[in-house]
Amino acid sequence: MHERTHVAVIGAGLAGLACARRLREAGNQVAVLEKSRGPGGRMTTARGPDWQADLGAQYFTARHPEFIAAVEDWRRQGVAALWDGRLVRLGIAGVTAVDDDRQRWVGGPRMSAVTRNLAQELDVLPETRITGIAGEPGGLRLQTAAGKEAGAFHAVVVAVPPAQAIPLLEPIAPEFAKRAAGVMMRPCWSVVVRLSGETPEFDAAFVEDDTLRWLARDGSKPGRKEASVWVAHAVGPFSEARLEDDAGVIGQEMAGRVQAMTGMAGGAEVLRCHRWRYSQCVAPLQDGYLLAPQQGLGVCGDWCHGSRVEDAWLSGHQLASALMDAGV
Ligand SMILES: Cc1cc2nc3c(=O)[nH]c(=O)nc-3n(C[C@H](O)[C@H](O)[C@H](O)COP(=O)(O)OP(=O)(O)OC[C@H]3O[C@@H](n4cnc5c(N)ncnc54)[C@H](O)[C@@H]3O)c2cc1C
Repeated sequence: MHERTHVAVIGAGLAGLACARRLREAGNQVAVLEKSRGPGGRMTTARGPDWQADLGAQYFTARHPEFIAAVEDWRRQGVAALWDGRLVRLGIAGVTAVDDDRQRWVGGPRMSAVTRNLAQELDVLPETRITGIAGEPGGLRLQTAAGKEAGAFHAVVVAVPPAQAIPLLEPIAPEFAKRAAGVMMRPCWSVVVRLSGETPEFDAAFVEDDTLRWLARDGSKPGRKEASVWVAHAVGPFSEARLEDDAGVIGQEMAGRVQAMTGMAGGAEVLRCHRWRYSQCVAPLQDGYLLAPQQGLGVCGDWCHGSRVEDAWLSGHQLASALMDAGV
């Protein structure tokens, strides 16, 4: 790499942050540009005056040795912990325990603690939506939605979901844009509900239902204070068919299903109802990441590697190594 390579990473989700951290640790100068108010992307935690709940990713598993080491490091720093919630399947066959010996990790005391921790030593520019990439390697510039320009950068990393990557990639790397266009993301309605009544004998469930696919008592995760807050995710067909519906209506409908499934008949207060237009991908790429070294352009994200938290981290981490190996 150049003596002090200057890299821009677009997107402060786990993939972008993992990439930025590795580049930074190797002595490069890195700027992370994020359209939202803070880092985290789909590992976000919603919060109210007296509640919090993981709205996107619910837990993560670790299989790859490098990711296992990263998770162990997060555990040591107190930002990740094992969740030993009682997990079941709820369906027509009734309630059956999930007994798969899988270690399920969560951020602690909330999912967003992991990405906040990664972002800590990075220069993250919030509320900066990037609308275009221009220039030559060594002099790459970014256009922002506010009409400003940032740069010049030796390399640019695009770390956003495929639909948001396409307009950035099309003018400069049409082949990459085409690859992104081939990856479909499922939408998902997510609801946070405060329930009252007798707590069931499970903390989370994979659900076979026309409306819900997942529900979890967020309060059963380590470090959480509010015991009666539940999160539920809708099945793909429901989320797709009702994508443009009013969040208030969807929230009430999903809360009713959560009550029915948990048997907590004492009342349900909808605290948040959120539409994920892009939640998890169907048929992700198998490349790990995309890289055009001669252009100083890299692409990472869960969708380049798989569909989970671990894939996002591996994609970003591996792209950083590849950029450095290529001497960008
Ligand atoms: C409802 C739901 C449930 C899930 N459940 C699980 C689970 O239980 N286990 C699991 O392992 N995974 C789960 N996932 C998937 C997991 O959350 C993702 O795989 C992972 O968080 C993706 O990280 P990422 O960095 O690739 O993308 P993101 O987290 O999407 O990060 C991309 C970032 O880029 C920003 N951005 C987008 N466009 C621009 C732009 N033009 N300019 C600047 N910034 C931009 C976005 O705001 C975002 O912060 C779930 C996801 C959802 C939504």
